[in-house]
Amino acid sequence: MALFGAFASTSFVLLGLWIGDRFLKMQFQWKEVVLLVFCSGIFSFIIIHFILQQFIYRRIKLIYKIIRKAKTSVPDKKALQKNDSTILEVVEQEVQQWADIQQNEIETLKTLESYRRRYIGNVSHELKTPIFSIQGYIHTLMDGGMHDENVNMRYLERAASNVDRLLTIVQDLEEISKFESEDLVLDIQNFDIKSLVKEVFHDLEVNARQKSIDLIFKEGADRSFNVMADREAIRRVLNNLISNSIKYGNENGTTKVSFYVMHKQLLVEIADNGIGVEEKHLNHLFDRFYRVDKSRSRVSGGSGLGLAIVKHIIEAHQQTINVRSTPGRGSTFGFTLDLAND
Ligand code: ADP
Repeated sequence: MALFGAFASTSFVLLGLWIGDRFLKMQFQWKEVVLLVFCSGIFSFIIIHFILQQFIYRRIKLIYKIIRKAKTSVPDKKALQKNDSTILEVVEQEVQQWADIQQNEIETLKTLESYRRRYIGNVSHELKTPIFSIQGYIHTLMDGGMHDENVNMRYLERAASNVDRLLTIVQDLEEISKFESEDLVLDIQNFDIKSLVKEVFHDLEVNARQKSIDLIFKEGADRSFNVMADREAIRRVLNNLISNSIKYGNENGTTKVSFYVMHKQLLVEIADNGIGVEEKHLNHLFDRFYRVDKSRSRVSGGSGLGLAIVKHIIEAHQQTINVRSTPGRGSTFGFTLDLAND
């Protein structure tokens, strides 16, 4: 660009000399002409080069200020003087990178925003249902129901069970946010998974008996297996999966727990012969608040967060969880754990 400018200005000087010589009858020596043309060429090259550099540097500085948001990151002025086109390519590349990063950030923010909106919508919806019920029962009691022996106790019990549901939702939400903020530190220890399953069977005995469901181990799985995991967190997993197998199991059904050794891991499976889940729902079962049959889940007191918590716990152990299911035949949930070395 500077060279082109120098040529242009030299041409003007030559034109001036020709006009002076032709029309104004100025007599120039050829040495004077050469010197004048040479000096004007060099001079205009230096001036144009300097002005261009200042101009480009100022522009680039502005671009860098915008994309880097830092004063120190302006390119080196000396580097700029070496080769204008190279530095422009570098700037173009950096601006492109900056634009890509901005675009990615915008996409991430949009996803987070829509997730946040859905999450708040789901939470408020979940909380609203029991709150409305409690409000309804309390108002009915206040409007005279309190003195009606036929309904007062029943309404109080229903209000109390909705308070329990509220508490379950809030506790589950608290737990899930603990996992998501990665505040939870696992207490990894060596323990026998079979005796933990026995404890959970014992805790859920009453629920199982109400539906005449048998809680059993698969034949041949009566050995103990020592695993390395957070015992209380795995208790939560087993409790959730086994209580789901009861909730969504059929009367007189069976919940069967099996263990399979896979190299250094143990696969724990909880199988029921209950209502099962259609294939289209399977990928969403571990999503927060996802329910296949909303009314059935609510009636049985579920928060819709149980499997999301289970997945968080298993993933925090760097393990995997999966589900197989056939509607009308039952479901099998399986997760892996590290076997202890002993
Ligand atoms: P919920 O509190 O609703 O039980 P979960 O997260 O534990 O929430 O389960 C999510 C959904 O997955 C349930 O609403 C139910 O539709 C389905 N589900 C979970 N376990 C089973 C199972 N063993 N059999 C059939 N469906 C199940």
